[in-house]
Amino acid sequence: MSYDSNNIFAKILRDEIPSFKVYEDDYTLAFMDIMPQAEGHTLVIPKFEAETLLDIPADELTHTMTTVQKVMSALKSTLGVDGVVLMQLNGSAAGQTVPHLHFHLIPEHLSKLNRHGAQMGDMDKIKALADKIRAAL
Ligand code: AMP
Repeated sequence: MSYDSNNIFAKILRDEIPSFKVYEDDYTLAFMDIMPQAEGHTLVIPKFEAETLLDIPADELTHTMTTVQKVMSALKSTLGVDGVVLMQLNGSAAGQTVPHLHFHLIPEHLSKLNRHGAQMGDMDKIKALADKIRAAL
């Protein structure tokens, strides 16, 4: 499948639209989800142009999962939670809405999550949380 370089996460990667970044390295970026399914909902994306998990080479995926691990650890310590849901959707048939591979890290029990992409969060709260998570990273 051909990658759409106009998708919203590609624009975030190019700094064309704002985001609440918490971590960045040569291969990956982590930032806050603005329609959080729970407080602290964070997204990790590769800089590599992949739409789904099937479109990324193993070495790039390894870098991405290393960042997933780092961010998960920071979420646990920052929010004082014991559990984090890791979710990743592949294709619109599975509910994927942004066609750039991403991992959702949601520090809440699965049964308590808000609906997916349903409601904008409180931007002041999200920013304050992003500052704390970034500091932990
Ligand atoms: P998915 O449905 O798995 O593709 O998830 C896309 C996620 O991106 C949803 O959880 C949205 O809330 C989130 N999202 C959409 N636009 C933005 C944005 N500009 N900044 C941060 N998160 C976003």
